Amino acid sequence: NDLINKIAAGEVIERPASIVKELIENSIDAGASEIIVEIENGGISLIRVSDNGKGIKEDDIEKAFMRHATSKIKDEHDLFKITSLGFRGEALASIAAVSKVELITKTNISDFGIKAYLENGKIVLKEYCGSTDGTTITIKDIFYNVPARLKFLKSPSREQAYITEIMQNLALSHPQISFKYIANKKNVFITTGDGSLKNVIYIIWGKNVFDNLIEVNSTKETITLKGFIGNSKLEKSNRNYQSIFVNGRHVRNKTITAAVENAYKSMLSINKFPLFVLNIFINPELIDVNVHPTKAEIKFSDEQKIFKEVYSCIKESLLKKDF
Ligand code: ADP
Ligand code: MG
Repeated sequence: NDLINKIAAGEVIERPASIVKELIENSIDAGASEIIVEIENGGISLIRVSDNGKGIKEDDIEKAFMRHATSKIKDEHDLFKITSLGFRGEALASIAAVSKVELITKTNISDFGIKAYLENGKIVLKEYCGSTDGTTITIKDIFYNVPARLKFLKSPSREQAYITEIMQNLALSHPQISFKYIANKKNVFITTGDGSLKNVIYIIWGKNVFDNLIEVNSTKETITLKGFIGNSKLEKSNRNYQSIFVNGRHVRNKTITAAVENAYKSMLSINKFPLFVLNIFINPELIDVNVHPTKAEIKFSDEQKIFKEVYSCIKESLLKKDF
């Protein structure tokens, strides 16, 4: 079965950033409103993700680290339904297979927390401990038992840059969650979780890279587009300040990028890349799923229609305001 194959291939943990992404997505799925991410040495020495979500019941801990044969998705289109970010039931198992894991977790129906250590995917120690509600997962020594993979990691600063990109995209797509991101014991950014996307953009990108933000909020036949677009203040603008989310997932798609940039250029005689954060909501059936589920690249069944609709949403929003 093609779907099963895609899913199986996709669960490979490539680098520290893949672990950070999977752990945070689990925290989001657990209903957390606060997520703290600490990394050291680009995540190679340490990754710690703490949340105030619902926790894992004692009886479910072992299962959480087991590779499920059963996936939460029945149909490929389910990947883009906005229900939960996790679907393969393989992330924790994969992470525990290639690194040392410490888990501390507590549900609100329990009076105490549980601490577990895993090595080579097996629980080697489990004990009760004091804890607040939620889950903290600490990953040490990524790829300690897969030296070939360890060798392929880039420098700690490059690995940290990958993690920062993941953190930014998750913070941008979840303004209602407070993210605290600490690298080498220094705060990189802290979002408030007040629900304002504009505030998240200010916090993570700073005020030096753009000089205004125009709200986009428009619905067409097949899409609803929500977010912000702004002018780059950078001498040499680039595409580093462009994020697209489809039904809550970060994606890359040249058609959307081109539609936004073309609409922007048609309205303003600015020869720079615009900055934007855009959420597209679309019926999952209209997404061409013949693309690897864990890759950010996506295609739509009708790319031309998407181009036209995004183009006109952006134009409409820019018309409402003058720069
Ligand atoms: P998936 O997210 O695809 O279900 P994972 O391997 O990422 O698979 O996680 C396995 C299970 O462990 C989740 O379905 C969830 O029940 C539980 N879990 C993992 N992380 C957390 C967390 N931070 N809080 C609560 N439950 C969690
Ligand atoms: Mg998951």
